Amino acid sequence: MTERFDLLLTGGTVVTVDDARRIIDDGAVGIADGRIEAVGTAAELAGVRAARIVDCTGKAVLPGLVDCHTHLYQGLARSLGEGMPLWSWLSQFMWPYAAEMTLEDARAAALLGAVEAVRAGTTCIVDHHYAPSDFESTLEVAGAIESVGLRGVVARALAGPPSDVARSHGLAGKLFAHTIDEEIAITRRCIAARPPGSRVAIWPAPHNVVYTDQELIRRAVALARETGTGWHAHCASAVRDPAVYTAAYGMRPVEWLHGEGLLGAGATLAHGIHLDDREVELVGATGTAIAHCPVSNQYGGDGVLRLRDLRAAGAVVGLGSDGPAYNHRQDLFECMKQAVLVQRMHALDPCASDSEEALDLATREGARLVGIDAGVLAPGKLADVAVVGLGHAHLTPHHHIPAALTYSARGADVELTIVGGRVVFEQGRCTMVDEAAVLADAQARAEALVRRAGISR
Ligand SMILES: [Zn+2]
Repeated sequence: MTERFDLLLTGGTVVTVDDARRIIDDGAVGIADGRIEAVGTAAELAGVRAARIVDCTGKAVLPGLVDCHTHLYQGLARSLGEGMPLWSWLSQFMWPYAAEMTLEDARAAALLGAVEAVRAGTTCIVDHHYAPSDFESTLEVAGAIESVGLRGVVARALAGPPSDVARSHGLAGKLFAHTIDEEIAITRRCIAARPPGSRVAIWPAPHNVVYTDQELIRRAVALARETGTGWHAHCASAVRDPAVYTAAYGMRPVEWLHGEGLLGAGATLAHGIHLDDREVELVGATGTAIAHCPVSNQYGGDGVLRLRDLRAAGAVVGLGSDGPAYNHRQDLFECMKQAVLVQRMHALDPCASDSEEALDLATREGARLVGIDAGVLAPGKLADVAVVGLGHAHLTPHHHIPAALTYSARGADVELTIVGGRVVFEQGRCTMVDEAAVLADAQARAEALVRRAGISR
């Protein structure tokens, strides 16, 4: 008799985040060939044969979390660069650090970040990768992320020639190493090596709508459309961004994107905080996606996303941790909690957002942003799953499970992470890499890199 499931998770509280937002007490999830095959009560699936059965009693079983915006290369600078406005942070700290990174440093940082992610129940990431962004390093980073078991995207940053805005804000330098043609050619080769459908695919990702050359952005989006990928860029994250952009170009950044026909399916903008009413309407009407990074936004004092307005207008909003040097932790549970709290504080309204919304953003909406068939526990979906232990003081009791997961749980409570049906983290250890070696290498490389870059704090 053949086994129907490769893996059966049984006995847990199954938080499906499906269209009916079903929560199944004493539930079960059956997985076969990398996909979810059945979701039901433990009793309903009890008679089905499985190659492996995991008892999830006392645990929550939820869709793997999707981190829609990070920069893993920043991991070797964690805990440095505090207390600077964003533009100064970039010009005086992050870009000098990034300019010193080697391929080996980038690989070490990617492995470190991927380990941290799977330990916290993240199953998919969008890594906006800056440094170094040559062909070999970009593919090396994608390979490193995949080697830990994650799926996702390396959004290869395109710097191109420095725009007047970049130059006038002190950003010109080593990272602007390529012409527009060269940037497009390198990205095209990367996409050919890891096309859409790859476990870790490559997208074009201009650094920032505000300071990246406009022609480079047009060409990057054209490349994305030609090759069937998404595209990614920072947009309107710093409070001054709209004014800086308007002074240079006579219009706001999202107005320009819309005028050029660049918004819509495949467009994923990181932050999108400082949008006026018209820009919110344009983002929503075109179904453009926003990667919302609430912890990062608070760390930088950057501002509060117009979450309710954007979602009401039709925007897709997922959650991002943002780089480890601008958040300091790759923990989407923390992001879920902060996504709610920052809305409430800003609106002075306890109803401004809630835990159900946070869970949606971290799972099904994130999967929509990335364009993967995941984020929901339902038959046919990719088997990306996180199992959270509930038997802790800070999770006792857990009357309402979305609230318990959003406000009480933390990444460290994750006990099992599954990506595409494969267990990548369990019993306190990553299954596909030697974690101790990853941490030791990252520590040694971080010390040498920070010394080379001349950064002291
Ligand atoms: Zn970012």
